[in-house]
Amino acid sequence: MAYVYDDQNIFARILRGEIPNKTVLETEHSLAFHDIGPQAPCHVLVIPRGAYVSYDHFTAEASDAEILDFSRAVGEVCRMMEVSPAGTGQGYRLISNTGDHGHQEVPHLHVHVLGGRSLGRMLEALD
Ligand code: 5GP
Repeated sequence: MAYVYDDQNIFARILRGEIPNKTVLETEHSLAFHDIGPQAPCHVLVIPRGAYVSYDHFTAEASDAEILDFSRAVGEVCRMMEVSPAGTGQGYRLISNTGDHGHQEVPHLHVHVLGGRSLGRMLEALD
């Protein structure tokens, strides 16, 4: 298993401060910001600060502190964006597209937090 990370990807550039972002949450190991092309009223991306291309890369090589921080950051964003049904929200969906079949555009691990409207069924069924 060989994980390859391209440090010129757009999220690496955001992390280096080369490209602006609309920040939602900053933690020691994670950053959350609004997606530039929102597909729902809430569309926030949560990324680790470390150089990881995918969730499987992250969980194979990140420290426990990074994994804990990232996991908590995702949950915190759900609460902050008021999409949690435990608060005033009506639910949300977490998506982490990976590789060609996952249609991943940006090769830095990110979790999409989508909510604020009904999101329909998860996937179209196979024929
Ligand atoms: P993916 O298909 O890799 O899961 O999604 C990448 C997401 O990154 C897309 O939803 C796209 O709109 C978003 N995105 C791409 N470039 C930028 C950018 O420069 N800034 C922000 N905030 N989002 C971006």
